[in-house]
Amino acid sequence: MKQQNVDILIIGAGLAGLMAGRRLREHGRTPLILEAAPQVSGRMRTVALGAGRADIGAQFFTARTAVFQKIAAEWLAEGLIFEWSQGWWDGSAEGVAGDGFPRYAAVQGMTAVMEYLAQPLTVHTGAAALSVTVTGDGWQVAAADGRLYHSRALLLTPPVPQSLALLDAGGVSLTAVDRAALERIQYAPSITGLVWVEGGVNLPEPGALQRPLHPISWIADNQQKGLSPEAAIVTMHVNPLHSQLWQTAPDGEVMGLLREGLRPYLAPSARIRLMKIYRWPYALPITLHPERTLLAAHLPPLVFAGDAFNGPRVEGAVLSGLAAALEMA
Ligand SMILES: Cc1cc2nc3c(=O)[nH]c(=O)nc-3n(C[C@H](O)[C@H](O)[C@H](O)COP(=O)(O)OP(=O)(O)OC[C@H]3O[C@@H](n4cnc5c(N)ncnc54)[C@H](O)[C@@H]3O)c2cc1C
Repeated sequence: MKQQNVDILIIGAGLAGLMAGRRLREHGRTPLILEAAPQVSGRMRTVALGAGRADIGAQFFTARTAVFQKIAAEWLAEGLIFEWSQGWWDGSAEGVAGDGFPRYAAVQGMTAVMEYLAQPLTVHTGAAALSVTVTGDGWQVAAADGRLYHSRALLLTPPVPQSLALLDAGGVSLTAVDRAALERIQYAPSITGLVWVEGGVNLPEPGALQRPLHPISWIADNQQKGLSPEAAIVTMHVNPLHSQLWQTAPDGEVMGLLREGLRPYLAPSARIRLMKIYRWPYALPITLHPERTLLAAHLPPLVFAGDAFNGPRVEGAVLSGLAAALEMA
């Protein structure tokens, strides 16, 4: 088995992992990132469907802290994101008094932002960590690319139950306090449907509808959003409660429910050409850790980070990743 030694190993090329990697580089470090998926993105994912494409995870984001506002301004200047809506809190920008924070979306889709963030970093994709073990004063990670990675310090950014499973697989014992804190973190699942529509989608400006209490809490037309000029691909999110209820329902059944939910927003002559269902087991943290990271006690340097630490969503993941880099630099 091939061995590789690194100073800092980061598991996960989602927002928290990539932001931590970039900040560590700014501090003169050269972290290595292992990503299970074939591409960087995590829950910031854009996919192709038929003749078009769509964001299937995060749809837009706000920047409420000065730190993230500065980063969002850089992304704006780079042409990566645009202001999709102003003061938009219930999804329909029409006639709604806002909270003053712009809702940003990605010009080429969320994955493009992630690819930009990954550019200066070394990321091994298709390299799922399988187990994590303590070795002397550092860490050993066995990965699906057939390598054994050794590091002085380790940052775990997958959803916390997945990180804990990696430690369990390698027989790593956290203190009872750390374990209890991490086990308190909980996530809601989510179901996303993608629908390729021909013949007209009628959603309110700027092309989306958000209804947190409705079983289908989000409907967005990626063509109106500007992401999919070639074809109208609609993203539909099932709300957390109904995602839980429909978790084991077959795709065909879920597609039927989404089709019905979309009907009022289709032109009479419109026809659905293709549908696809995605299931996120850990979509949105619902019980958060009160700090931006957790530094494990009585072990070689081991930090947990991600959107479940102190603030959810895109902004929370970014801030947690940056905080993790400070802990490890
Ligand atoms: C359906 C949906 C809609 C959303 N909508 C919005 C929105 O509109 N606005 C908003 O602000 N936020 C939204 N979010 C939340 C936002 O996407 C997340 O908060 C953020 O992307 C989380 O980033 P992260 O780095 O913490 O985790 P993730 O993005 O989950 O990154 C973790 C990474 O770790 C990798 N990984 C896991 N296990 C392993 C392993 N064993 N080895 C190697 N790699 C591994 C994963 O593949 C993943 O790439 C949404 C999320 C979902 C799912």
